[in-house]
Amino acid sequence: MRESEFIEWIRSQSQFDPDIVPVGPGDDCAVIACGAERLIVTTDQVLDGVHFRLADHGPEAAGRKGMARNLSDVAAMAAAPFGAVAAVALSRGDLLDQAQAIYRGLRCAGDEFNCPVVGGDVAVWDSLLAITVTVFARPDGIEPVLRSGAEPGDAICLTGAVGGAFRTRRHLQFTPRVREARVLADQYHLHAMIDVSDGLAADLGHICTASGVGAQLWGDVVPIHPDAERQGGEDRPGLAAALGDGEDYELLFTVSADEAQSLLKRRAVDVPITHVGVITEGAGMMLICPDGTSRPLAPTGWEHQT
Ligand SMILES: [Mg+2]
Repeated sequence: MRESEFIEWIRSQSQFDPDIVPVGPGDDCAVIACGAERLIVTTDQVLDGVHFRLADHGPEAAGRKGMARNLSDVAAMAAAPFGAVAAVALSRGDLLDQAQAIYRGLRCAGDEFNCPVVGGDVAVWDSLLAITVTVFARPDGIEPVLRSGAEPGDAICLTGAVGGAFRTRRHLQFTPRVREARVLADQYHLHAMIDVSDGLAADLGHICTASGVGAQLWGDVVPIHPDAERQGGEDRPGLAAALGDGEDYELLFTVSADEAQSLLKRRAVDVPITHVGVITEGAGMMLICPDGTSRPLAPTGWEHQT
């Protein structure tokens, strides 16, 4: 079963009052009304053997990634994080050393964004290390950016470069784009946004599905990370990895063509931003290949099997 199919099933099982749960399952975070305020919340886990390898990377890197993945989902809504809780299932061994190193990793990623660990749970079992983190955030003056607001004609923009994150330690050491998301959403009307965790093609597919639109992606301008450049590909070295690998934790967003022009000219944030395509009417995604031909683009980035 695919994760997206399970989310669809969850949505079919629950009916929310939109005044109480303005955004339910299926976006990067949920939004819950809290009196006059809105709470933005997300949870994500990292597992030994899936998201890191404890023997190679160590417990501190695992903790850091556990926090940073959640902060990346908060960034995808342009929200401001303010606290986290963590539940850790330790594998038997040097328990105190392991737990302290995980905590240091969580703190390392959280402190940079004023997101302290305010509680949690630790258990021990005869299996591999599993770390689950929940991050709480608030709008703090910026309307949450959803996946569902993309409009035909929008420019599709991407921060940084993508591909090959698992071939190096980049999938462990990335900086979530919390600050960049807040600056961009404060200065421009971002229509839709997601963080690239499943892969550029898959995450663009998530925006298209949620927004009821299609997309055209320009294969000759997709910024390919040096980690992926040496990978072969039928069109352009590294392009397949850039489209499909995932775990890049960059921001993929759409804005009107006019706003994109000024945003790209002004360099609103330090990280490079590339205009990689356009939102189209209808459904389905097309890849304009570097040789000028076009073909359907399947949303075949990494998707967790559940
Ligand atoms: Mg996400």
